[in-house]
Amino acid sequence: MKKIFLAGEWVLGQGKPTVSYFPADGTKNDEFSTASVEQVDEAVRKAHQAWQQPEWRFSLPSQRARVLWKVAELIEARVEELAALQTRDNGKPLSETRGLVMSAAQTARYMASVLDTLDEELTNQRASDTLTLSVYEPLGVVAAITPWNSPIASEMQKIAPALAGGNAIVLKPAELTSLVALRLAELFEEAGLPKGLLSILPGKGSVVGNALVQHHLVRKISFTGGTNTGKQLAHVAAERLISTSLELGGKSPTVVLEDADLELAVNGVIYGIFSSAGQACIAGSRLFVHQSRYDEFVARLVEKTNRLRVGHPEDPATQVGPLIDENHLRGVDAYVQQAKAEGGQVVTGGHRVTGNGLDQGSYYAPTVITGLSNSATVCQEEIFGPVLVVMPFESEQELVSVANQSVYGLAAGIWTENYRKAWQLARLLDVGTVWINTYKKFSISTPFGGFKQSGVGREKGRHSILSYMQQKSIYIGLDSTPNPWCEG
Ligand code: NAD
Repeated sequence: MKKIFLAGEWVLGQGKPTVSYFPADGTKNDEFSTASVEQVDEAVRKAHQAWQQPEWRFSLPSQRARVLWKVAELIEARVEELAALQTRDNGKPLSETRGLVMSAAQTARYMASVLDTLDEELTNQRASDTLTLSVYEPLGVVAAITPWNSPIASEMQKIAPALAGGNAIVLKPAELTSLVALRLAELFEEAGLPKGLLSILPGKGSVVGNALVQHHLVRKISFTGGTNTGKQLAHVAAERLISTSLELGGKSPTVVLEDADLELAVNGVIYGIFSSAGQACIAGSRLFVHQSRYDEFVARLVEKTNRLRVGHPEDPATQVGPLIDENHLRGVDAYVQQAKAEGGQVVTGGHRVTGNGLDQGSYYAPTVITGLSNSATVCQEEIFGPVLVVMPFESEQELVSVANQSVYGLAAGIWTENYRKAWQLARLLDVGTVWINTYKKFSISTPFGGFKQSGVGREKGRHSILSYMQQKSIYIGLDSTPNPWCEG
């Protein structure tokens, strides 16, 4: 039975044990214990104590950076091992999990570099007798909660800036994918992170997650997951007046303008929705194609989609792996049935994939649906699976209005050869990230986050460390004469 990582110690979790299964065939990966509510309390208290130690709280940025550099090296030396572990845990093809592992290493290294070069401010002087400064201090204990789709990358996006900022962090990974986070804890131990500053507490959101965010010593909630859960956590944060960062769901539009290079666009659209089997917050799941290119585009799209290799995630040839589990597959299929009931035509896919050794896994065929309008359920709700809805548009004005008709605002894609038009469109779309003639590309130096119900706050970029810190202003009197106000 796998232990939990509680304030620098490996102990048996006192919560209900759980099992990690390989989504490719349902075989058991590992059994692991989960934290109890009492253990959450212990982890947060110990995190608070560890954070308060002057050696950490007032450590030099360069000292904290050293731990992150070391972790980056340790991760890079274990890319294959970590990628294999994550593939076993959530079923993403190895080609993708390798990328996620590398992204975790880059995040640690980037945060270390930013930390090492972050300046504090001598603020503009408004009086000759006073020197004014603004310094950044840690918040204290950060509660981090992550989803199952890209664990190692999303977990490092929280752990690295939180530790860089001089905080302690208690992380609750997703129920279905806790193995990589536990392995990451071992690497932080090896890198010499002082005890107590990191805890990894697997368990249910409603038990472990809830106890964590409610804890009176927690000073920030850093959450990635579904919009409904995000709203619940926003309520908790509001009640407790603590800060939050919420990276939530999406229903991202991709638009193909009249002058787009169709070959480039077709490949980009297919990658944008079907990589990760569509289990990506940024999946480009609503596609708008200019009326004049619509038939040609859909024909090419379907032809290429049919050639995608759905298969075992450990097979190097696989492009589309399994969904996380049967429950999720049923949810995805229910959306496809709903689309049909609302008048949609499934032009390819729309069924589970079996045969060739795939019978025991949760494989779903890449699916393209036409004949619906943007108000259809499948255009308004996040499916989080390999399902693309294609719609024609005539004018760009109409396009902007329809593309923005969504509660979400995470990302968008634009395919056109006209960069002036692309720029104008990019500014009109209510989303946090726009990709022009590319899609699903990430850079750790570029902030990421959602508009509207896709989130609050930004991860990545130079400023992400500051979101785990609070500003303190300090006034230093330079006048040696006593304050005349007190003189009679
Ligand atoms: P989820 O919201 O169901 O769960 C996310 C995490 O929250 C899990 O660890 C879960 O245990 C925990 N949780 C659930 N209820 C909780 C509660 N009441 N209190 C505290 N914690 C609780 O999401 P999911 O199904 O794991 O992940 C899929 C969702 O994540 C999708 O909506 C996807 O778009 C979103 N996501 C967003 C981003 C982003 O960066 N915007 C990235 C990846 C995934």
